[in-house]
Amino acid sequence: MGKRLEHAMVKGITEFVVADTEECRAALFAEGKPPLSVIEGPLMNGMNVVGDLFGAGKMFLPQVVKSARVMKQAVAHLIPYVEEEKKRTGSTSKGRIVIATVKGDVHDIGKNIVGVVLGCNGYEIIDLGVMVSADKILHAAKEHGAQAIGLSGLITPSLEEMSHIAGEMQRQGFDVPLLIGGATTSRAHTAIKIAPNYAGPVVYVPDASRAVGVVTKLLSIDMRDSYVDEIAADYEKVRSQHAGKKGIALVSLDAARANRAKLTYTPVTPKRLGVTVLRDLDLAVLAEYIDWGPFFQTWDLAGSYPKILDDAVVGDAARNVFNDGKAMLQQLIAEKWISANAVFGLFPAQAVADDIVFYADETRDKVAMTWHGLRQQQERPAGKPHQCLSDFVAPKGGNCADYAGAFAVTAGLGIEKKLAEFAAQHDDYRAIMLKSLADRLAEAAAEWLHERVRKDYWGYAGDESLDSAALIAEMYRGIRPAPGYPACPDHTSKGALFHLLDAPSNAGMHLTESYAMTPAASVAGFYLAHPEAHYFAITKIDRDQLQDWAQRCGMTLPEAEKWLAPLL
Ligand code: SAH
Repeated sequence: MGKRLEHAMVKGITEFVVADTEECRAALFAEGKPPLSVIEGPLMNGMNVVGDLFGAGKMFLPQVVKSARVMKQAVAHLIPYVEEEKKRTGSTSKGRIVIATVKGDVHDIGKNIVGVVLGCNGYEIIDLGVMVSADKILHAAKEHGAQAIGLSGLITPSLEEMSHIAGEMQRQGFDVPLLIGGATTSRAHTAIKIAPNYAGPVVYVPDASRAVGVVTKLLSIDMRDSYVDEIAADYEKVRSQHAGKKGIALVSLDAARANRAKLTYTPVTPKRLGVTVLRDLDLAVLAEYIDWGPFFQTWDLAGSYPKILDDAVVGDAARNVFNDGKAMLQQLIAEKWISANAVFGLFPAQAVADDIVFYADETRDKVAMTWHGLRQQQERPAGKPHQCLSDFVAPKGGNCADYAGAFAVTAGLGIEKKLAEFAAQHDDYRAIMLKSLADRLAEAAAEWLHERVRKDYWGYAGDESLDSAALIAEMYRGIRPAPGYPACPDHTSKGALFHLLDAPSNAGMHLTESYAMTPAASVAGFYLAHPEAHYFAITKIDRDQLQDWAQRCGMTLPEAEKWLAPLL
């Protein structure tokens, strides 16, 4: 029986295994009270094989998470015995790790995946969830005697929060390793901004496949010291390289403004001005607009869609997770597991230097919102402008009445119910799958809505006819810049955007103190219709722009420094 279960764990990639596990469970129960060694041994051996195969690149993340489900479900049935055995033998896991998505941030797919992968490798994971304050994380770490703490974050304000937590760990006398991960984090940021705040080990973990290696070394008596020294030396090198760099050459804000893009403006008046609310969008329609590319990234499978499905290395894993994803998508549409809302508004608008001013109506007397933009200050090649998104809107006082829009969409409404069901079934695979599909549907909703706006509501592209690939390649006129992305890296503008559209009552969407959106599967941004509008990146800004921007936003300098920290 043990052998079969072990075999099942390794083969935990197919549905038949779940059935097989039921059998195994039945057998275990029939045996009455088997000693822990009989149960946990094969389970953990099986999972260790999974862990080893994953570590060796012979097994891919979706299979690992699926295998973990088999283990968790089996273990859940055995918990009473396991607990009893633990009491008797005092045996513990390989190590206890507290993980959390930091305060103000809501995304947790990556964190959950890391939790599952570490769990598969015999570590005990205490997952505190999302939006967790420094206090709560450190309190939990003490209470549980955690041997490491893992922090995750998606949006840039979380970087500051992580530095803060590192400082708090120092202040409170912690010495356990601090692991840093999530989309916005990097080795450079970890070395330069986080590690100096804490004397204990701080390690950047780029993705789930690295988590086990890092944790194993950090918690191993033999390897720990040399690994910690190695990381410290590496981060010291990163810091000195950073200090030695001349830095990006910047021009003054005045010079940048003088070198703005010189465009001509021939605006099209929107067919429908003001705010429009579209509730309970048809998920089947949205599904047609899904860009599957990022779905595979979520599952740590490298390659572009659809080529990835035939990839020599990851093709099998990609096809399997794609089939599972499509099957769940069908079911969630048919059974309405989640719902999607959208709200958008089209307004008279003019540029005022680097800002875009939205007016309540055509009299253009009453300001409905001001979007405070940032302008490129990095040195630009000869003939290239210092760009700001406001350049794509006709300037105020120039006798050209222009327009701009804003939107907010979500596809995560009601997701908690199903997630709770999956959690009760110890089914991380389906929980992560559902979250990844909700994310895809939110992006698809943004794509679908943008098309409707171009063709109907604004109507500047009535005869546009683009297929899915052309939409994903953004071959249409106009852009939908999203706060937090490179052309408008400031997240705080979502505050004014949500207010302008009354996104909380119109779409059921809210903002955290770091301007992350809830539900997590949400997208918000602005519409600019200029034929030459395109995305670009603001990389660094100088003090003159920081001061100017703070003043325009009505923020103190320290506040502005906090929100724009990644640009300074
Ligand atoms: N098809 C992708 C779309 C997301 S990425 C998906 O399904 O995930 C593209 C979106 O990100 C754009 O529509 C825009 O909203 C935002 N974006 C990308 N680059 C940007 C930039 N440089 N500045 C501002 N927003 C940007």
